[in-house]
Amino acid sequence: AQDHLTSLLEGFGLTATTLLSNWIDGGLAAGEEDVITLTNPATGETLVNYRDAGAGLIECATQAAQRGQREWMALTASERGRRMNAAIRGLAGHEEALAQLESVVAGKPIRDCRAEVDKVREMFEYYAGWCDKQHGEVIPVPTSHLNYVRHVPYGVVGQITPWNAPMFTCAWQLAPAIAAGNGVVLKPSELTPFSSVVIAKLLESGGLPKGLINIVNGLGKSTGAALTDHPAISKLVFVGSPQSGRMIAEAGARRLVPSVLELGGKSANIVFADAKLDEAVAGAQAAIFAAAGQSCVAGSRLLIERPVFEQVTSRLARAAEQIAVGLPSDEATRMGPLQNRRQFEQVTRMIDAAVAAGARLLTGGKRPEGLPDEAQGYFIAPTVLVDVTPEMEIAQQEVFGPVLVAMVFDSEAEAIQLANETRFGLAGAVWSQDVARAHRVAGQLRAGTVWINSYKAISVMSPFGGFGDSGFGRSSGLDGLREYTVPQSVWVET
Ligand code: NAD
Repeated sequence: AQDHLTSLLEGFGLTATTLLSNWIDGGLAAGEEDVITLTNPATGETLVNYRDAGAGLIECATQAAQRGQREWMALTASERGRRMNAAIRGLAGHEEALAQLESVVAGKPIRDCRAEVDKVREMFEYYAGWCDKQHGEVIPVPTSHLNYVRHVPYGVVGQITPWNAPMFTCAWQLAPAIAAGNGVVLKPSELTPFSSVVIAKLLESGGLPKGLINIVNGLGKSTGAALTDHPAISKLVFVGSPQSGRMIAEAGARRLVPSVLELGGKSANIVFADAKLDEAVAGAQAAIFAAAGQSCVAGSRLLIERPVFEQVTSRLARAAEQIAVGLPSDEATRMGPLQNRRQFEQVTRMIDAAVAAGARLLTGGKRPEGLPDEAQGYFIAPTVLVDVTPEMEIAQQEVFGPVLVAMVFDSEAEAIQLANETRFGLAGAVWSQDVARAHRVAGQLRAGTVWINSYKAISVMSPFGGFGDSGFGRSSGLDGLREYTVPQSVWVET
């Protein structure tokens, strides 16, 4: 895997004495601070070393973004749309190498990485269409003035993303930011640094101005903090854990810079006894085990009405045992390892604590059987826990792993109460054939996204975000675009 990664990085021009792990002002640059070592999540072996960018490169990147943004805004809106569409064509022919690169570094099944590359294209295409459609409004003010409102960009925005879906998150935030007319400095997770660099490089080869998008890699406490504290950054967009999100919001508050926080979740998936159970079981399985549970919207709490509790949980446990867990490079693999040691240790500890607190393992909770010898990395079998009570840590805290907790309920009111008994509020689902009840329950869930008889349907066209510890602000759709502009009210004496 190490040689494979080296040849992929070479193919994208990133290899040198020190890895060229940053994309700044239209060129690749090596980091200047401490060495960061990446481990192969599937094998546990060292993959590659690169250097933390540090404050010096953040300075270069913000200056480049200011220049790039001025050049970008000197174009007409329709020209910006054309350039964004042309930029996406820069990815053409590189999709497979990009997917392979991500699969090795992030430890994600290759087929999932291919799907993620498709999402990158989709998000840029969608927001390219918005470039020349950001109309202002005329307000019928009670004076003789003509008053109109324009949506103006912030200038340079700072973005910080996590390791679980690096290409998706990168495009998810880059596309609306530039469609709204901003320059960007983005810091990916230190654990998955390269795919965002490659995406930015390919986009620019397709025709974006030099410096409009800059990718700077390093640790949160060094490069990340230098980005959030930089005076040129006038908006912060963060995707990650509530703990780090709090630090980002505090950094923003110190400088009076607004932030969007897309944080974690503990989403409830509610199955009523009258649901179509085949679909509910398949939906619940995908909700938690896709991406090995390392998804912010993972349906990690399954609430099941008592008459079907045994049936649903035993079917789910059987289905969990059928999931093909294996090496990310294997085409047959449907679930890979966890991405990193810290995550692996956290998930293992939380399962052990739940069992010690009285929860019962229906399946999983340990290393899966039948893995190839080289798979010495961070594998945990799909896990289903029952006898879980709402106050247990496993029912309250985000696990971010392939761990489902199943709880029983006896009434609609109890289901809603259990679902809302969390500090998070990212997503949730209701499975029932009673349409009126499904809508009634959905309307009472404190969650930014609710699915009925479905799970994880997501589109760049529809707003996404949380309540409570899941964060604030919205991404995707027009709401996501508006996070990147400020309304400016212009008064003209007539
Ligand atoms: P994390 O909070 O540890 O790290 C996220 C990013 O923040 C990384 O780039 C990290 O380097 C940076 N960072 C950390 N401390 C910082 C600081 N003080 N200043 C600046 N930057 C700092 O999160 P993670 O472990 O990478 O990702 C997992 C979390 O992300 C989970 O909680 C998951 O639910 C959440 N997530 C949310 C969404 C969403 O859309 N709501 C999407 C994906 C992941």
